[in-house]
Amino acid sequence: MSEQMKKYIDEAEKALLHTYNRYQIVLDKGEGVYLYDIDGKKYLDFVSGIAVFALGYGNRKYNDALKGQIDKLLHTSNYYYNVPAIEAAKKIKEVSGMDRVFFTNSGAEAVEGALKAARKYAYLKDGRTDHEIIAMNHSFHGRTFGALSVTGNPHYREAFEPMIGNIKFADLNDLDSVLSLVNEKTCAIILETVQGEGGIFPAAKEFLEGIRKVCDEKDILMILDEIQCGMGRTGYMFAWQKYGIKPDIMTTAKALGCGVPVGAFLMTEKVGQNSLVAGDHGTTYGGNPFACAAINKVLDLFKEDNIIENVNAVAPYLEQRLDELKDKYDFITDRRGAGLMQGLVFDRPVAEVINKALEKGLILINAGTNIIRFVPPLVITKENIDDMISILDSCLESI
Ligand SMILES: *Cc1c(COP(=O)(O)O)cnc(C)c1O
Repeated sequence: MSEQMKKYIDEAEKALLHTYNRYQIVLDKGEGVYLYDIDGKKYLDFVSGIAVFALGYGNRKYNDALKGQIDKLLHTSNYYYNVPAIEAAKKIKEVSGMDRVFFTNSGAEAVEGALKAARKYAYLKDGRTDHEIIAMNHSFHGRTFGALSVTGNPHYREAFEPMIGNIKFADLNDLDSVLSLVNEKTCAIILETVQGEGGIFPAAKEFLEGIRKVCDEKDILMILDEIQCGMGRTGYMFAWQKYGIKPDIMTTAKALGCGVPVGAFLMTEKVGQNSLVAGDHGTTYGGNPFACAAINKVLDLFKEDNIIENVNAVAPYLEQRLDELKDKYDFITDRRGAGLMQGLVFDRPVAEVINKALEKGLILINAGTNIIRFVPPLVITKENIDDMISILDSCLESI
């Protein structure tokens, strides 16, 4: 590591709040599926800023669209209409099949909005102010108080109690554990279609169908958090689209802006007409022209560059190559996931492997202590997968 890089890391640790144990590299620029640190070292990136940079780095068409919008108009208030927001809203409706959208600045904010919409919907029906929400153990929905309250990891919540209250936790893919918590106060059931941070656990089809059914019977709102698994990552624009069910409310963020901080929560017309109204919710930056120019270009490029087709073309190969590693090494116990959102499960902590890979120019990340997560840019090729596997394999051989 250069003296310059050491100096930057030192300065960072004196100035930034230490809320992350950061890897010891300072990143400088990106190109396609590669990142470069400030010493010029090249890394193959299988993290993409945690499922964000779907289009790959330095995408010319995307960058030009952003530059064009910067010279035109960066921000107006949500008290006025702007064309990029109108266009982005139409496009996201089209790809999601949802009817109404509210743009946010982040994933956590999208979850906050979704929870507020669900409570308001129930309040308008029965006037109660003690509604309950069912969430899943091992889920992750963000770090703000509402989102944290439905995050099924007590370790993240404990020091910040009390949470928003009236949240109950069930187990993913155990329908009975959900049904046993449903009562007349239940206003929503929230889950990730594929759990990300919690360890790459896809929700089962029958589980999603069972939740849809009880929600229909009791007019409870089904909220799907697609912030990590959405935007093409599983081979569908949104992961739930594989299952023939549809949520009442869904959240998206991460790859929606491909680097520009944006998010959104979307709902059906029924929820839109019976929940949040003028004065109930707002944001200064959410849906501003710059953010929406990013969303527009991302959604255009998904079509033009056949991003989802690429996911479906390369994901089976990634699964196959990861399975080969699983068969080769006893300490790898499982491989699971959907599309280009995969997890390799170890019988031991994976930090050492990830650090070794980093030294050899491969960026990987964990999901929990024992799982290596693979969430590469959606433009990767089979050759990129081969390169990744050969570096990873060489790290595993020395274990
Ligand atoms: C990352 C993530 C969030 C939080 O998004 P932020 O933009 O970090 O606030 C919420 N839900 C899921 C499933 C996520 O992966």
